[in-house]
Amino acid sequence: MNILILGSGGREHALAWAVMQNPKCDRLIVAPGNAGIDAIAECADLNILDGGQVVTFAEENTIDFVIIGPEAPLAAGVADRLREAGILTFGPSAAAAQLESSKAFTKEICDAANAPTAAYAHFTKASAAKEYIHTQGAPIVIKADGLAAGKGVVVAMEMDTALDAIDDMFCGEFGEAGAQVVIEEFMEGEEASFFVLCDGKTVLPIGTAQDHKRAFDGDEGPNTGGMGAYSPAPIMTSTLIEKALSEIIRPTMDVMATRGMPYQGVLYAGFMIKDGQPRLVEYNARFGDPECQVLMMRLGAQVLDLLLACAEQHLDSAQVNWADDHAISVVMAANGYPGAYEKGSVITGLNDIPEDSKNMVFHAGTSLKDGQITATGGRVLNITTRGTSLAEARERAYDMVARIDWPGGFNRKDIGWRAL
Ligand code: AMP
Repeated sequence: MNILILGSGGREHALAWAVMQNPKCDRLIVAPGNAGIDAIAECADLNILDGGQVVTFAEENTIDFVIIGPEAPLAAGVADRLREAGILTFGPSAAAAQLESSKAFTKEICDAANAPTAAYAHFTKASAAKEYIHTQGAPIVIKADGLAAGKGVVVAMEMDTALDAIDDMFCGEFGEAGAQVVIEEFMEGEEASFFVLCDGKTVLPIGTAQDHKRAFDGDEGPNTGGMGAYSPAPIMTSTLIEKALSEIIRPTMDVMATRGMPYQGVLYAGFMIKDGQPRLVEYNARFGDPECQVLMMRLGAQVLDLLLACAEQHLDSAQVNWADDHAISVVMAANGYPGAYEKGSVITGLNDIPEDSKNMVFHAGTSLKDGQITATGGRVLNITTRGTSLAEARERAYDMVARIDWPGGFNRKDIGWRAL
């Protein structure tokens, strides 16, 4: 079959790498792609937020299946346009993707589903939001309602930080996303991510992961999109997984279906875990990045069968073949990230790294210029490995990192420390 993947990050490189290993895949196009993807599949220049353009491209290239990577095209209704055109698609409708694109929507669905999450209130006026903060005190969490590329959440340990965040959000720092804010109770505990496929009726767990959000070793420094991840997450025991499914995920999916917005795609749930109880921090309507890289490394070629079963709505007859293995991904980012960073620095040494089913360099922000791989984004490479233990996988990942010559970049040296 002919397959089109939308996106250009490490997540999409990992998806493309896994999908290509499946003999059902005859031709793979990734739009827009990056230098790493270009080495294994065709890349196409396409505005992936424009549903009409994506449908036309898919029809012209006789695409049988479209996999949507990032959240922005989902929120823009690209999955809806593709399904209307009769094209098999992996990714939720814009209505269902509100589980990621609106925090207020999600909190209300959680109420209806009786799913454990932080207590909250929702505001459209700064004065009322500030009054509420005064009644609650710090620590407290302030969230812009809409998509804010991971930057719309302020975990305020002090009152002043909370009040400043309200000013920033209502003064337009987050654009439209800040026109509404959700203020949440601060939850303590350990965070973990849980990934399930849902076809509107059946929920199929496909893995757990933990990531490192802070820029520097020891989980210090500013928040980023993620500096590394590993799977499985040891904290997500089978008892916790069962609890998460029965108390949070399945009730949410049932409410979505009852309200005429059946959820079809991957649901990525972030939990805060304390005293053996998971509480929902957030939902995302797509795979995490870099969590996707470790999940793809562990699942391999079967991913295409699973995504197809999800899109074709027969997850009830699908099955995940689990291996007793561990995967880790170390992110290499441009110096300065997540603040201002330089673009265009050259990366060498990549050709000497043997890549196989257990060791991969997934590219994120790279492009090929004059025959050289150059950095074009904040997060640039994901060194991803798989092993019989996390320690073994980690050792190989850091051996690979050491072989890459990139003075313009940095990476954390302690990915996986919590699990080890
Ligand atoms: P979100 O975009 O909602 O996942 O929030 C980003 C990060 O902020 C999460 O991964 C948590 O580390 C933190 N966070 C969000 N909500 C809360 C909360 N209610 N209590 C504590 N930390 C939170």
